[in-house]
Amino acid sequence: MIQPKELQQGKQLPLMEAFYTVQGEGFHTGKASFFLRIGGCDVGCSWCDVKESWNPNLHELTAVEEIVSKIDNAKVNTVVITGGEPLNYNLDLLCNLLKKKNLQIHLETSGTCDISGQFDWICLSPKKQHPPLKQFYKIADELKVIIQNEDDIAWAVENAKKVEKDCLLYLQPEWSRMDKIMQTIVDFVLDNPEWKVSLQTHKFMKIP
Ligand code: SF4
Repeated sequence: MIQPKELQQGKQLPLMEAFYTVQGEGFHTGKASFFLRIGGCDVGCSWCDVKESWNPNLHELTAVEEIVSKIDNAKVNTVVITGGEPLNYNLDLLCNLLKKKNLQIHLETSGTCDISGQFDWICLSPKKQHPPLKQFYKIADELKVIIQNEDDIAWAVENAKKVEKDCLLYLQPEWSRMDKIMQTIVDFVLDNPEWKVSLQTHKFMKIP
């Protein structure tokens, strides 16, 4: 994909949404967080619940200064950069500006593009059809694998062998398959207590 210069340098990003809510998933579940959703993703998960994010051209190129200025709530402590796949773009400048505001920066990534930016927490969510680059296994704080069927458990185990020892391990049922797959996940976690269950609690709470 040929990107305009401003995009390549991370001076502008296709911002899809910016909103303050409660993190619904993984280790930081329940934490008040300001979400920046950056458009653009070619990983193509069939169950993706933000398919509107895939085409970056649908989302207005926004200067990073303007993106950061949206975080005007003095209570915000944590910013989650998500997508789409936010690492489709250089996030150095965005992260520098967020750090100047003394914010904790969390990243949600599939790990399919080179790392840029600086993060206090990296959640790696590997996808079979487009596996992560090796570099992400060294830097992930949290491995969150979406489980749609039993085969995905083997994929989760394969990924867990590659992360560092202190990386936290989560299995998260794919929302539309939860009733069918939950018992398999629970049984696995009971046998393998180094893993934990992650739920999309924001969907139960009916919040963004
Ligand atoms: Fe959707 Fe994330 Fe998969 Fe991209 S990586 S298709 S945004 S679930």
